Amino acid sequence: MTIRVRRVAAACALGAALTACGAPSAPHASRPAPSAPTAAVSSRPPTLAPGPAGLTPVFKNGPRVGGKTVALTFDADMTADEGPRAAKGEHFDNPQLISTLRTLKVPATVFMTGRWADEYPAEARAIGRDPQFEIANHSYSHYAFTGDCYGLPTVSPDRMKADVERAYTAFKKAGVPNAMPYFRFPGGCYDRQALKTLSAVGVTAVQWDVVSGDAFATDSDAVAQQVLEGVKPGSVVVMHCTRSAAPATEKAVRMIVPELRKKGYRFVKVSELIGAADRHR
Ligand SMILES: [Zn+2]
Repeated sequence: MTIRVRRVAAACALGAALTACGAPSAPHASRPAPSAPTAAVSSRPPTLAPGPAGLTPVFKNGPRVGGKTVALTFDADMTADEGPRAAKGEHFDNPQLISTLRTLKVPATVFMTGRWADEYPAEARAIGRDPQFEIANHSYSHYAFTGDCYGLPTVSPDRMKADVERAYTAFKKAGVPNAMPYFRFPGGCYDRQALKTLSAVGVTAVQWDVVSGDAFATDSDAVAQQVLEGVKPGSVVVMHCTRSAAPATEKAVRMIVPELRKKGYRFVKVSELIGAADRHR
């Protein structure tokens, strides 16, 4: 498990290119405005209670019993200093992936960096206003929250809280109505200090139990196979929605979804797994 986590984290660190999940905005023209929320949207998202000593709670997977659910999560990475690469035409977004998730009717959680939302505000807004998806926080800068995280630049402890809050500000600026109080550490790297520092923000940290290996992968069969072998009831799968750094993901999703449905799995957002985990405590 450790090795697999390191693989994705290393990819994350290298993935200067990872960016936002693109979403065509036209289909949303007729969607209800965020000022007319449904009951589900307006209710408070489920979170985990703080950990020992008030530390930020860490969620890894949902209950293994009580039904076959699985959450696909997509990290929309973009590191703070990658603007020039985007300006040169590198695609950190992946509109086709979002479109495929819509076509297949797969609910999903997008862990978005604030920098990505700044780069692709229309796509961020379209994802955020679509009830099929939820947007959670993947920091503003995609800098690491520990000293040694696969070569990522680091955020100093006194800037951690501000970096997370800056991402929420970026989501709001893009027009995302209800970003979730969930946070995924860049590279998946955290320690007690980071959990303590973020406790004031009130987020639940979300890790994963299934690494897709999609970052920089070109073999979609291999990605699909790794996911299909790893998924158990309640699993959280980490993938990416960035064309340049995860080019095989969309095709892999088209293979993964029907296979898991054949096995009886239902796709859910992370919030549903966290709600179920809370009920099973
Ligand atoms: Zn990331």
